[in-house]
Amino acid sequence: MNDFQSQLMELEQPIRLGFFFGVFTIMALAELVRPRRKLTISKGLRWFSNLGIVVFNTVLARAILPMAPVAFAALMADRGWGIFNVIDISPTLAFVATVVLMDFAIWLQHVMVHAVPVLWRLHRLHHADLDYDVTTGARFHPIEILLSLGIKFAVIALLGAPAAAVLVFEVILNAMAMFNHANFKLPLGLDAVLRTLLVTPDMHRVHHSVIPFETNSNFGFNLSIWDRLFGTYIAQPEGGHEGMTIGIDLFRTAHDERLDQMLIQPFRGNVGDYTINRRDWGQKAGKFSPEDKDGNGP
Ligand SMILES: [Zn+2]
Ligand SMILES: [Zn+2]
Repeated sequence: MNDFQSQLMELEQPIRLGFFFGVFTIMALAELVRPRRKLTISKGLRWFSNLGIVVFNTVLARAILPMAPVAFAALMADRGWGIFNVIDISPTLAFVATVVLMDFAIWLQHVMVHAVPVLWRLHRLHHADLDYDVTTGARFHPIEILLSLGIKFAVIALLGAPAAAVLVFEVILNAMAMFNHANFKLPLGLDAVLRTLLVTPDMHRVHHSVIPFETNSNFGFNLSIWDRLFGTYIAQPEGGHEGMTIGIDLFRTAHDERLDQMLIQPFRGNVGDYTINRRDWGQKAGKFSPEDKDGNGP
C-alpha cells in the first residue's frame, strides 16, 4: 500500500462525515426557505426515525465489516486484482470509468430490489416514508445496507477500482441522495438543465409516488442517463408534485413511521403489488389474455 492510499484511508471518515453534515445542513435549510410540498405528518417523528436508522446502520456496518470500501479498493490494488489493476489504462480513464460504472451498478441494483419480491420487502422501507425530504435519502433497512455493501465490494473487486475514485463516488452518492430527496423547489429552468445529466429532486420524487407505474421508474441516484437509456424515465408525476401521494399502499399510519416498526417492516404484512411478478401486464385493461393467441387483443 502506498502513502497516498494510507492517507486516503485515514481521511475517509472525516471527509465523508464533513460532506454528510455540510450537505445535510444546506438541504435542510433550503427545505425551510423554499419547500416543494407541505409535509403531511410530524417532522419530529420522521426525523427521529429516519436519522435513528442512519445511526443504527452506521454502527452496524462498522461492527460487521472488516473494512470500508476505500480500504478494500486499496487492498485489491495491492494484490493486483480486478480489471483496472491488470490492463494498461490511464489513471484518469480508470477514475472516470469507476465513478460512471459504479453508478450504473447502483442503478441496476435498484431495479433488482424493485423486481424481486423478497428484496422489495427490504427496499420498501425507503418508499414507505409518507413524506419526502432530505432524511428520506438515508432511510434504508439495515439488511439492505449490508446487501448494497456486499454488491459494492464485488463491483470494486471486479473493476479493480482505484481507491480515490471509490471515495469520490461514495461522497457524490451520499451528497446526491440528500440533494435529490430534498423537499425544496429548484427553479424549473434549472431543473430542466440539470436533469439532462443528473437526477434532480423533481425527477426522483416521481419514484416515490404511490402509483406502481411511477414507483417503478426513475431508478437513478446520480446520473439520469440510465433511466433514459433503459426506458424507465418518467418526466413528471401524473398528479403533479404538490398533488401526488408519496409512499406505498401498505404502511400508511404514523405508527408505521416509528423506528421499531421500521426495523421489523420487511417481515410485516404481504409483499404488496409493486414487484415484477405482481404487475398487471395489461390483462385487466383487456389488452391481452392467454386465450388471445394472436396478441391483437379482443
Ligand atoms: Zn426504489
Ligand atoms: Zn428514493
